[in-house]
Amino acid sequence: MNKVLALLGALVLAVIAYTALSPQSANEEGTAADVATVGSAVEPTMGFIDDERIKNAASEPGNWLSFGRTYEEQRHSPLTQINKETVGQLGLAWYKDMNTNRAQEATPIVVDDTMFFSSTWSKVFAVDAITGETKWSYDPEVPGEWARKACCDVVNRGVAVYKGRVYVGTLDGRLVALDAATGSVVWEVDTLIDRTRFYTITGAPRVANGKVFIGNGGAEFGVRGYVTAYDAESGEEVWRFFTVPGDPSLPFEHPEMELAAETWKGGSWWEFGGGGTVWNSIVYDPDFNTVYLGVGNGSPWTRVIRSPGGGDNLFLSSIVALDADTGSMKWYYQTTPGDNWDYTAVQYIALADMEVDGEMRKVLLQAPKNGFFYVLDRADGQLLRANPYATVTWASHVDMETGRPVENPELDYEQQEQWVLPGPLGAHNWQAMSVDEEAGVVYIPAQDNPLIYGLSEDWKQSGIYKRNPGGWNTGLEFGRITQLVVDNIADQPTPKGYLKAFDPLTGKDKWVVEIPHYWNGGVLSSAGGLVFQGDALGMLTAYDKDNGEALWQFNTYTSMLAPPITYEIDGTQYVSILTGTGGGDLFGGEPLPPVSEHASLTYNNYGRLLVFKVGGTEELPVPTVRDRTIPVQTNLTASNDQIAAGERHYHNYCAVCHGLAVRSGGSIPDLRRMSEGTHTVFNQIVQDGLLAANGMAAFNDVVSDEDTTMIHHYVRARAEQDRLAAAGEGGGQLTWQ
Ligand code: CA
Repeated sequence: MNKVLALLGALVLAVIAYTALSPQSANEEGTAADVATVGSAVEPTMGFIDDERIKNAASEPGNWLSFGRTYEEQRHSPLTQINKETVGQLGLAWYKDMNTNRAQEATPIVVDDTMFFSSTWSKVFAVDAITGETKWSYDPEVPGEWARKACCDVVNRGVAVYKGRVYVGTLDGRLVALDAATGSVVWEVDTLIDRTRFYTITGAPRVANGKVFIGNGGAEFGVRGYVTAYDAESGEEVWRFFTVPGDPSLPFEHPEMELAAETWKGGSWWEFGGGGTVWNSIVYDPDFNTVYLGVGNGSPWTRVIRSPGGGDNLFLSSIVALDADTGSMKWYYQTTPGDNWDYTAVQYIALADMEVDGEMRKVLLQAPKNGFFYVLDRADGQLLRANPYATVTWASHVDMETGRPVENPELDYEQQEQWVLPGPLGAHNWQAMSVDEEAGVVYIPAQDNPLIYGLSEDWKQSGIYKRNPGGWNTGLEFGRITQLVVDNIADQPTPKGYLKAFDPLTGKDKWVVEIPHYWNGGVLSSAGGLVFQGDALGMLTAYDKDNGEALWQFNTYTSMLAPPITYEIDGTQYVSILTGTGGGDLFGGEPLPPVSEHASLTYNNYGRLLVFKVGGTEELPVPTVRDRTIPVQTNLTASNDQIAAGERHYHNYCAVCHGLAVRSGGSIPDLRRMSEGTHTVFNQIVQDGLLAANGMAAFNDVVSDEDTTMIHHYVRARAEQDRLAAAGEGGGQLTWQ
C-alpha cells in the first residue's frame, strides 16, 4: 500500500480549503513593507543586459544573466570558489521569508548586485544579491479564483531581464514588462486568445533579439497551445505560432497548420482545444537565430477520443524549431507521435556543442516526460540519440531509422487498465537538469513514477466523451482512480526518485543517487566539481560530480522543487535556492510509509529564498513538527452509496489539489483536518466561493449542492478511516467502493 499514493502527477483543481489552516490569500502574500523602497542608491542601469552580454556570458561568470544562465541553458556554472574542498564550510549567508506556503519554482536572475525572481501568484522581487534587502516588489494582483484554472498551483518559474526591463508572465495570462530599477509597469499585454478557457502562464518568458517569447498551459482542462513573440520595447505582437490545428471549418492561421491538420483524424479535438501547450521550455539559439519550443501533451490525453482516426497529431509532444524573427517553422521532431499518456516535451531544452560519432555537432538535449533522452542536431533536427534515462514500459525503444518510438502493445490501455511507466509526472518533469559539456554528462532529476491508465467509463459505455468546460478533460477515469489503484496494487511498479549522471551519447549512467521520494528539485552543476539539488526531504545537497558522493548537506526543513543557482559578487561565491514544494504533484498527496520523512509535511511548506556562502553562519529557525492529528469525525451518517458518489466527484474535481484519497501533500489544506467550524461552511466554500481569494474558487458550475454534500460525506469518511488507522483501530483502506 505504501506505493499507492506515491504516484500520479499533475492533475486538476480542487475543491475546498478551510479557513483556520488556509494558506495566505493572494492579497496577504508579499507585504506592504516589501514594496518600492527604491532610492537614489539604485543604479540607473540596473538590469541592463542585452544580447551581447548574454552571448558573452563566459566573460562574466559571476552573473546569472538568463533563465538557464546563458542562452544555451546548461545551468553549469564556471565558478570554482565553492568546490569539493571548500563546500564543507558552506553555510547560510541570509534568508528571506517569502510569506507563502505554496510551491516556489523560479530560477532567479542575477545581474551585477541585484537578484530578480518570481514567487507564488506571479509576484516579482528585486533584492540586493549580497544582503537580501528588498529593492522593490511587484504584485500583478492575479484574481484568487484564477487558481482554479491552474493544473498545478499558483506557481511561476521565473522572469527575464533585458535592457533595463523585467518580464513576467502572470497566472491569468498577461505578459508584463517592468522597469528593472523601480518595478513599475512599463507595458502589459493580454496574451490569451480566449479568457473563458482555462489558460495559465507559469513559465518564464525568454527574451532575445528584441523580442519576448511566451507560451501558456492548460491542456488538462482543454485549450489550444500557442506561443507569441512580442516586441520587447513596445509590447506589440510580432508573431504567433499555434502548435495544434484549430477548427477545420476555419482558415489555417499559418502554413504549418495545414501540415499539422493532416495528422489529426476524426473526432472533434478543436472543441477540447487539442492541447500542445508550451508551458515551460522556449530556448533561443543565437547560432541559428532559432527559437525551440518544447510542446506539451494532447487534450484530451487519450488519442482514441482526441483523434479516433489515428495520426501523429502534430505538433504534440514535439520540439519545434522556429525562425526567431518570423515564427516560421524550420524543423520539428516529435518525441511521442499520437501522445496517449500526457507525455509533454516541455522539459528544459539545453544547447551544446558535442562530438558525436567523430563529428562536432551543434546539438539540442532534452529529457522529456516519455523517458527517452534525445540528442538532436540543431541545424536540421536530425535525431542522433534516443536512449532511455529511466524505466520505460510504454515503448521498447526508439527506432533510429524512422525516429519513432516502438510502442509496447501489451500496455495498450484502451481495452484494459494498465500500469505504465512513466506516468503523467514523467520520467523527468520541469525540474531543471544541468549539462556538464566538458564531462559529457547531464545531471537529471529523474523518477520512476507510474500511473494506472484507464479510459473514461462514459466513453467505454457510450462512445461519447462530452467536454466539461469547468474541469479536467483527459479522457481517463479519474473518478475511480483510487479503486483502480487498490484493485491493481499488486502490479504497481515502485515509485522512486533519482539523481542521475547520465551520458546522453552512450545512454549509460555514470552514477545514480536514489532518493526516497520521487518529486525532487532541479539541478545546478559547477566547475567546482559539484552538483547541487534540493529534495523532498528538505535537504539541499552538494554531490561530488564524479561519483555522486554527498559532500555537504543543509536541512532547509522544506521540500524543494526549484533549481539552485550560483553567482559571485566582490570575490564571494553564493548558492541560492527557493524552497517550497507542490506543483504538479499535489494530486499524489501525502506519501505513505516508508516514505514518511517528507519535510513540508513534517514541518510546513516554508516559502523562502536561501543564500549560502563559504563561512556563512546564519541559521534557520528550527520549526516545530506539524500537528497532524485527525479530529474525531461527527455526522458520519451517509450511506456507502453516498460516500462512493462523493469519492467520484472528489477525484474528478478536488483531488488534483487536495490529494488522492483526501491526503494532502503539505502545501494545500488537508481536508481530513478541517475544523468543525469549517465543516459548517463546507458547501458555502465549494458552492459560493467563500475562500475564492485564497485560490479556492466556487465549483458550482460543475458540482451541484447535492454533489457537494456527497463530497463532504466522503471527506469525513476518509478522515475517520485514517484517524482510526492512526489510532491502531482501523485498516487504513483508501477507498469506499
Ligand atoms: Ca500535461
